[in-house]
This record gives sequence, C-alpha cells and structure tokens, in this order.
Amino acid sequence: MTTITIENAGKYDGQEVTVRGWLYNIRESGKLVFPIFRDGTGIIQGVCSLKENPEAFEALKGLTQESSVIVTGKIRAEQRAPGGYEMGVSKIQIVQRVSEATPFPIQLKEHGVDFLLDQRHLWIRTPRQASILRIRAEAVRSAREFMDGQGYTLTDAPMFTPAACEGTSTLFEVNYIDDQKAYLTQSGQLYIEATAMALGKVYTFGPTFRAEKSKTRRHLTEFWMLEPEAAYAELPDMMDLGEGLVSAMVQGVVKNKPRELETLKRDIKKLENIKPPFPRITYEEAVGVLAKNGNPAKFGDDFGGDEETIISSSFDRPVMVHHYPTAIKAFYMQPDHERPDLALSFDMLAPEGYGEIIGGSQRIHDYDLLVKRLKENNLPIESFQWYLDLRRYGSVPHAGFGLGLERTVAWICGTEHIREVIPFPRMIYRVYP
Ligand code: ATP
Ligand code: MG
Repeated sequence: MTTITIENAGKYDGQEVTVRGWLYNIRESGKLVFPIFRDGTGIIQGVCSLKENPEAFEALKGLTQESSVIVTGKIRAEQRAPGGYEMGVSKIQIVQRVSEATPFPIQLKEHGVDFLLDQRHLWIRTPRQASILRIRAEAVRSAREFMDGQGYTLTDAPMFTPAACEGTSTLFEVNYIDDQKAYLTQSGQLYIEATAMALGKVYTFGPTFRAEKSKTRRHLTEFWMLEPEAAYAELPDMMDLGEGLVSAMVQGVVKNKPRELETLKRDIKKLENIKPPFPRITYEEAVGVLAKNGNPAKFGDDFGGDEETIISSSFDRPVMVHHYPTAIKAFYMQPDHERPDLALSFDMLAPEGYGEIIGGSQRIHDYDLLVKRLKENNLPIESFQWYLDLRRYGSVPHAGFGLGLERTVAWICGTEHIREVIPFPRMIYRVYP
C-alpha cells in the first residue's frame, strides 16, 4: 500500500492509500463515523460505515482525540470536505490510544491564552499553530535564498559575548567557566562587521536575547534576527537590500504557503502588494506626519508602537524612516556629513500596526570618531579594542541592518501577538514549557 502525506492526497484521487498520523476529531452518526485525521502536513476527513467496514468502524467508534493511527482507505474528491478530498476508511491500526482517564487537554473550543501557552508543546498540533510554523519556515527559507542569491556569505556570530553591543542594561548574564562572566548576545552586528571586512558581504542569522522588561505583543526575550553587513556599502544600499529581502520573504510565503494563509484567514491581497519600491521618508517628515495626526512627538523623541502605527498607516507596504537623531541612536552609527545631529540610520515599519521589523545604519568607519562615541556612551574602550582594530586596518564605509524574524512573520500571518510565531516563546514571565 502506498503511504502518502495528506497535503498530496489530491494526487491519489480514486486510489487506496495509507496515511500515518493522529485522530484530530471525530463525529459519530448512527452507523457512520466521520473521523478527521492530521499528519502534520494537513487534515483530511474520513468516513467509515458499520455495514461496509465493521472492524474499522468499531476501532474508530469512541476513539480518543490525538490517538495515533495508521489508516488505509480510498481517496475521493468531496467538495464539502476541508481540503477538497476525503478518505473512505477501510482499515485502521491504532498505534497508541489516548486514555479516557487523561484526555487531550486542548479541545476544539476556545481556550484562554495562558492555558494554551502552558500547553504549548501540544498547542502546536492544532491546524492554526501548525500553519504558522510552516509559514515561519518558508519565510526563513526564502530569506536565506534571497541573501545567498545577493552574494552574501553566512557567517554565524557567537551567542556568548564578553561585553554588550549597546550597553549592559538589557543583557542576560551567564556564569561562564571559572567564574568568568559572559553575556548572551543581543545582536551579532559587531562580529559581522569583522567578517564583512574579511569576506565583503555577509550575514548572520540566529537567536538573540534581550533582558528588557517589555511586556508588549511585539517583544520576546529570545528572538531570531537576520543581520546583513557589507563592506563598501552605504545607507541607501541597505535600504534597497531591506526592501528586497522583505519582499522576497512575503512573496515566498504567498507563493509556497497559500493553504496555510487560508487556514489563518489572512488577506492575501494585502501581501501580494508587498513589492519594491517601499516608500521612504525622513525622521523629520515622520515627526510632521505625527503632528498632523495630533501626536505630541517632537524632534529628538524615539518612536514607540503608537507612533509607528500612525506613521505606517498611510502606506500599503512597509515604510522606511531614515535619518533619526544621532542622540537617540547607537554609538556606532555614522552621523550625516552635513547634518551631524542626524544618523545615517533607518527603521522599516511594517503595515497594519506591526511596527519596526528592521533597524539598520551605516557604521562609523573613522577611528577617532568611534573612540569619541564610545567615550560619550561610557563604554569600556578596552573591551572594544578588537572592534577598533577594524578601523585600524583598512577601514572602509560599511553598513548593515537587523531584521526581526518573529515581527516579520507575525505581520505576514496577521497574528495578534508575536508569541504565536515561534515554536516555544520566551517572554518576560514565561520560560515554560
Ligand atoms: P524596539 O524598539 O521595537 O523594541 P529595537 O529598536 O530595540 O526594537 P533593534 O535593536 O533595532 O530593535 O533590533 C532589530 C530588530 O529586531 C527590530 O527591528 C525588531 O524587528 C527585532 N526586535 C528587537 N527587539 C525585539 C524583541 N524584544 N522581540 C522580538 N523582536 C525584536
Ligand atoms: Mg531599532
């Protein structure tokens, strides 16, 4: 017997095949049972009658949710069934029967989110959560494909770091060997500035950690960041790269995960629009937009979620805000030649209120200026000697950015909270399961 995956069921119309999976749900109606099976690639409705297949009927009757099963039956087109096909079950083997004494805790009804997060290891089995994880995987795949296609080499930055990238206030401290202190990385940027000087165009893609006590729907304490860095690149190059990358991720999902987007009831029209060029406005123009909308932000203020939502709401695709005040940006950002009070920086704000998905800049390449900025920020010069080496030995203009994977995927999926788009979210008050 051919064993198939449910996503491919349509290719086997009229044939008898085997599916290995779990019982998602079952409805009984007299001498008929209507089980729904899932196998990780999708769900398929089955039908089994007492008269034609008494053995399978008896095995299915009263079978508990999430019992693991291997089922055989004929695939046939059925417009009313989810996915368009159903299976006439003729044979079933129960691999493990879930005990009636300890039924699967997640029923097909509304549950509170705290309960679901406690059950995250089981919650991910539900069609919505499984679809989100498949979309996340596709977003990652298309991001890598895009970066590799642009000639960027993956150079992974370390997770243990000796010091902060931008100060120690939001760092997780780790007891390293022999009482040495180390910190979990909050960005791989400083390290890929080094690999960019070695290889030209590079990126790192991995988890990053922030101990900030932000309790919002956009903050995790552990999240994934894709960070490109390029030698001989300037601010506009990174804005071009950023819009290309985000478009590639969105279009990858639209093309390869339409069924998952449908499960999420995501408006695909809005995603199909996401193509370069993205609008670009200066920070000062953004302050003007805010004033027009009655927001009190003035020059020198950093934007929070509310401001970002106002700014992005007049655009149907992500907007890039550039030239933020130097004073509110990180020490390593290159000030504008003509307006040193402005940094050669940009943030990309997603539409529909999802906020900042990218933060980037051109980096200071002048040794003396970098030392001055480190001092102004009270950072320990000794710890940055290796970083200063990059300005001692063949320094060149260079630029890069960081894209937050979960923020981007939350927007693509249209989820209310970022916690749903990572398999096991780590948040200010949650490290279980
Ligand atoms: P925000 O001000 O929105 O908290 P940030 O400016 O501190 O973000 P950056 O240091 O610029 O963030 O990080 C680059 C990207 O990483 C951000 O644009 C965002 O997409 C993502 N990011 C930052 N912090 C978090 C977090 N706590 N959880 C999830 N994603 C994050
Ligand atoms: Mg930022």
